[in-house]
Amino acid sequence: MKKGMYLLAVVLIAAMAVGLGGCKHQHDYVVLDEQEPTCVKDGYRKSRCSGCGDVLEETLYALGHDYNIYNVCTRCDDDLASRMTMGLSYEDAEDGCYVSIGTTKVKDVVVPAYSTDGKRVVGVRDEGFFSPDGDVRPNAAAIESVELADGIESIGTRAFYGCTNLKTVRLPRASLKTVGDLAFSGCTALKSLGNTSSGVEIVGKNAFAGCTSLTSLPAFPYLRTVGEYAFTGCTGIENANLGPYTQTLGNGVFADCSALRFASLGSSATIPEDAFQNCTALEDVSLSVSLKEICPSAFSFCNALKSIRFGGSMAEWKAVKKANDWFLTDREPTDYVDFYIYCTDGTLDHNGYEAPAN
Ligand SMILES: [Zn+2]
Ligand SMILES: [Zn+2]
Repeated sequence: MKKGMYLLAVVLIAAMAVGLGGCKHQHDYVVLDEQEPTCVKDGYRKSRCSGCGDVLEETLYALGHDYNIYNVCTRCDDDLASRMTMGLSYEDAEDGCYVSIGTTKVKDVVVPAYSTDGKRVVGVRDEGFFSPDGDVRPNAAAIESVELADGIESIGTRAFYGCTNLKTVRLPRASLKTVGDLAFSGCTALKSLGNTSSGVEIVGKNAFAGCTSLTSLPAFPYLRTVGEYAFTGCTGIENANLGPYTQTLGNGVFADCSALRFASLGSSATIPEDAFQNCTALEDVSLSVSLKEICPSAFSFCNALKSIRFGGSMAEWKAVKKANDWFLTDREPTDYVDFYIYCTDGTLDHNGYEAPAN
């Protein structure tokens, strides 16, 4: 008994010492203030570690409406039934049904959570609103806005491909998990994706390729996997912050994003081939300590690159496997791009030599 209490005291003192020393310990957060999220509004939680006093502020993302079979929200009575678009087509599947354009001719499409015959809408069908050419599917080509009801979980392959008049999309707030390959590719007028979509974990290949009117990345705070060339040619985006959870990036993910100036790559271990190829305005990139490899041409022709902010030490940066041509430029060898790597314990130049502090 006595020995047990003594051990407990030692553990407590050790924990306090770690806390005072600023080293890592298991924080014991106590909630100070909390605002619950609603269907449409984010909440927050503020807590403090009882050990070290560290304050943690978290966003509790909006829940999205919880529609019943009549398209009325069980929490807030939001009535989607009065606004839903008629004439859409629904294809049955095991888990619910998938929507496509059907006979609809409206410019502003509202996709409900339940079809007219009471089946749950779980996704937008592959090529559901596909508009390869204005003459082939004129009704799809004419669409200017789409609202996807909360409850929808996936957007299929090429779902809105080539909808060149589509300007605004309102994505589900929490339910959407996947944006399919080429889903919004070539939507050259697309400016806004509405609110934060906190459920999205996977963005497919070329999903937003060539969305030249987008000025910011979609707000997907829990994004984990981004397919190859997902944002290639998004020439209006200046800032690409993928959030802390992104682990897998495909080749060329931001290639040819000519206005991109700042990028932050989450906790990705690999910067894939051509990731930032031809991002000629790119100045500043933040990379986490999880980084292990930079692939060929990752930063090809990033002639404006000034700083790479690395979350680890100089030794850890040196241990990152780098392809020979990871920062190829089209300048003369004597006119190297002069960028620095800012590590936690010092600064390196692009060759990996320690740079004088300034
Ligand atoms: Zn703590
Ligand atoms: Zn609601």
